[in-house]
Amino acid sequence: MMSYVIKTKQGSLIVIDGGTAGDALYLLKYLKALGQDANRPVVEAWFLTHLHSDHGDAFAEIMAKFKSVVTVRNVYAHLPSHAVLDRLTGREKQEAEKLEQVITSLPEGMLHVVHTGESIRVDDITFDILHEPDETVTHNVLNNSSLVFRMKVDGQRCLFTGDIGRETSTRLVQQYGAALKSDILQMAHHGQNGATREFYQAVNPKICLWPTPDWLWTNRDGNGSYQTLEVRRWMQELKVERNIVSCFGTSYLVFPYGLETPRISTTPKSCMEQAWWKRRFEEKQALVKQGGWEIVLIGDSITHGWETVGSNVWNEVFAPYKVLNLGFSADRTEQVLWRMENGELDGYQPKLVFLLIGTNNTGLRPVEQENPEDTAAGIQAIIRTIQEKAPGAIIVLHPVFPRDENPKHFRRIRNNQVNQIIKKYADGQSVIFIDFNDKLNNLDGTLTSAIIKKDQLHLQTEGYEIWAESIQPTIKRVLESSESGVRP
Ligand SMILES: [Zn+2]
Repeated sequence: MMSYVIKTKQGSLIVIDGGTAGDALYLLKYLKALGQDANRPVVEAWFLTHLHSDHGDAFAEIMAKFKSVVTVRNVYAHLPSHAVLDRLTGREKQEAEKLEQVITSLPEGMLHVVHTGESIRVDDITFDILHEPDETVTHNVLNNSSLVFRMKVDGQRCLFTGDIGRETSTRLVQQYGAALKSDILQMAHHGQNGATREFYQAVNPKICLWPTPDWLWTNRDGNGSYQTLEVRRWMQELKVERNIVSCFGTSYLVFPYGLETPRISTTPKSCMEQAWWKRRFEEKQALVKQGGWEIVLIGDSITHGWETVGSNVWNEVFAPYKVLNLGFSADRTEQVLWRMENGELDGYQPKLVFLLIGTNNTGLRPVEQENPEDTAAGIQAIIRTIQEKAPGAIIVLHPVFPRDENPKHFRRIRNNQVNQIIKKYADGQSVIFIDFNDKLNNLDGTLTSAIIKKDQLHLQTEGYEIWAESIQPTIKRVLESSESGVRP
């Protein structure tokens, strides 16, 4: 559940925790990909924050089964005393004792018991130990026994807190105060029921790392009993600029990591080097110049498809109005932004703008380069551009359509994660969210015949019919309530 891998400029690998036993194989694959010797990667330093299985069991699993595949040189930890372990009960006690056993029986010289105030250096990265387990804490004992340390790299500070709770975080604020200030912060205890707001305020990070699964990130879509949504709100109030959430997939950060590195999804980019795209853009520009467009559809191939597969449906729905199709196959948010900034909404005032975009961001770009928050930010940037260029228009925002037959497919999940974020961009007045994804899915989550079976992405005629049905009331309401609404 919590796993971070760091590679120094010199190529040394460092692991923090590693996750559950079930995460071990993925971690191993990742280490092989990053290691200098893919056949036998070397982990120079392995930090273990505390003895919970979702943090340390991947390490135990690798020690038990894969010692011949990976070399671990140094393990850094500070285990709680037996007096503390004795206070635990049930499964927690069993798990902690098992992991403690693995760590204390490591070969001579491998385990380093670290203490507050110590620094560990691996190449040009320094780890300062800020907190070792404090035996006087008697509540939430094992989580509060987490090792807290700060990584310094390229002048940036990244604070790791393991699973500390209220007690340890309060002590850290008393001990260090504003000196806790760090650029990047690993959210304590997966981002809920962990550190206090005062602690987060003292750390005052710009970027937060959340070792947080989907159900916890969303608090089971708002129906759970976790504190995550409240903590997310705190971090928003503290002006955190980027959340890097593990349920969005593996993230890859290059240090110094900066927010000044623009997101690909929000940086306008053309495809003018592609002949067909350039031709289509120029054809659409010629139409734009005719002016008078009442309805505009903006998007990728699925919107583009109104001109081919959806053309009969188009004639039925849109015939009474002046409608411009600005769907371009394979476009991502950044191409749409470029088109908007290069004239597609200039010289006329549409009443209604439909926006469906994002599936090529999630489908064609690895999550390491673009996570769902990045894709959503691209969509938000398009909405803002439409609002600037066509201030009177009502924007209909569609969720990214489902794709891939298996509802658990990572691309489907990514699209769902984007949708969770973007639906909040709608205010119900100037931006309306029209979601008919349930009509594109069967009850078991597989795709209906509205979506082409072969590519599991594009709509069949039936899909365009569903789309048309879902938007017709809005078209009527907006177009026919406006002044020029009298139709022949
Ligand atoms: Zn824990």
